[in-house]
Amino acid sequence: MNAIWFRNDLRLHDHQPFLNTVNNGGEVRAVFVWDERLEERSLNMKRMGENRRRFLIESLEDLATSLHAYGISLTIVHGNVEEVMSSWLIEQRIEHVFVHDHPGFEERQDLSKVMAKMPETKWHVSEGHMLFRRDQLPVELTAFPMSFTRFRKKLETKLLVPQKNHPYTGAERDVIQESSGKHPEMRPINMPMALEELKDMYPGSVGIVKGGETAGLERLSTYVKDPKRLFTYKQTRDGLLSFDDSSKLSFWLANGCLSPKRVYQTIMQMEAEHGRNESSYWLFFELLWREYFQWLMLATQGRLFLKRGLLEKELIWYDDLRHFEAWKKGETGYPLVDAAMVELNTTGYMSNRARQNVASFLTKNLGVNWLWGARYFEEQLIDYDPASNYGNWAYQAGVGTDMRELRAFNVVGQGIRYDPKGRYAKHWLKLPESLPGHVVYDPEELRKCVEWPQTIVDQEESLRKRKKELGLG
Ligand code: FAD
Repeated sequence: MNAIWFRNDLRLHDHQPFLNTVNNGGEVRAVFVWDERLEERSLNMKRMGENRRRFLIESLEDLATSLHAYGISLTIVHGNVEEVMSSWLIEQRIEHVFVHDHPGFEERQDLSKVMAKMPETKWHVSEGHMLFRRDQLPVELTAFPMSFTRFRKKLETKLLVPQKNHPYTGAERDVIQESSGKHPEMRPINMPMALEELKDMYPGSVGIVKGGETAGLERLSTYVKDPKRLFTYKQTRDGLLSFDDSSKLSFWLANGCLSPKRVYQTIMQMEAEHGRNESSYWLFFELLWREYFQWLMLATQGRLFLKRGLLEKELIWYDDLRHFEAWKKGETGYPLVDAAMVELNTTGYMSNRARQNVASFLTKNLGVNWLWGARYFEEQLIDYDPASNYGNWAYQAGVGTDMRELRAFNVVGQGIRYDPKGRYAKHWLKLPESLPGHVVYDPEELRKCVEWPQTIVDQEESLRKRKKELGLG
């Protein structure tokens, strides 16, 4: 008996374990472990909040439906990954397991523990979470570059990847290939889908996006395959309010409903038809950021999750619950930060621009323990991804790859610059439409027009204090 173990790869396209299993012959089972760690709680935070949970359930439902069409049923087991997975393998008399590797610290440990516990089982492990395979990477993990630019330049020197201001040649298309193998014929099974356990876990509300491969591929079509969107991405990506300001592919990429290689190939296809411009290149550039953090997480072996991050020295961090709660609830008095946190709490999403601002405010103005912020994002973000989340947080907190100076975002100036009409804050903070744009992000100006609370700290003063305590000015 063969089994596909689905983990963070809830799709059938570009899925080597699926192709290998069905082409290996014999009967096939599929399994997903609902990890009991997702229910863990600390500091009043869960590992997985309601929006993330809903998306995962929808993704599993979609996967079960797709597998059903190929005559494969998906079983969901719940508990400690090592224990429940090994019991299931014994119970089902599984001889071959086909599974994707994942660069996450816990994910890698889980896989190696189950493999060690089941040495008689034949393990077939494929790479599938990143754009590049390990053997393609032009750097050793032991000497992994501690800067994104150096990583990108190495790729550009060694591989024919897209480059800024270089026209599309066609050769780029071959660098990153989807998994190979024949897709089987569909042969639906007669038995009902065993998804009752999922129904009981439903949070019971509707999200801003639907989980699953079907919805992910649909978004790829409506965004990347639409020249009006793809070829204007660079101009719109910093927008705060509108859904189509950026690709929103992160939900499906993070949950493995969409393969990064499929996204890459779709960009290449569009460039082959229409030519490359700054925007189509830039979407690839952002995928490279994702790629960088995945390999960085693997290379640094869990250090991204430590308070000291990748730095060799401890910084001063405050376990200040009062400031942390005000930040979480969107009650700092700074409209950009507050609107962004309300959006996150309501929808499970926040734009990249807003994420940078709220992370900077928590770590550089409030000096609150950056791991708390990262943990809160882990709970709330539908697109939570260990490498991208902890990597970006460490970077914002100044404990990432380097910290020569303390560069903080000015959360008043950023609001005015990226949303001059104040539409984002008006929407999420229910401010009057009639307010002139320039007052919306400035708490003092805003107080002259509406009732508005005092800020919890003064932006300039708090930054001066932080710099001083870190010996940076
Ligand atoms: P687009 O702008 O359309 O970008 C396309 C894709 O490129 C994204 O879907 C994503 O996969 C990748 N990408 C873009 N920017 C980044 C980046 N800075 N780092 C890594 N990948 C990137 N992204 C996550 O996917 N999961 C997270 O948990 C996460 N946490 C973050 C925490 C902080 C503090 C910050 C500053 C950023 C974080 N990001 C995270 C990165 C980024 O904010 C999101 O990927 C992006 O906002 C998702 O929206 P989009 O798909 O429309 O992005």
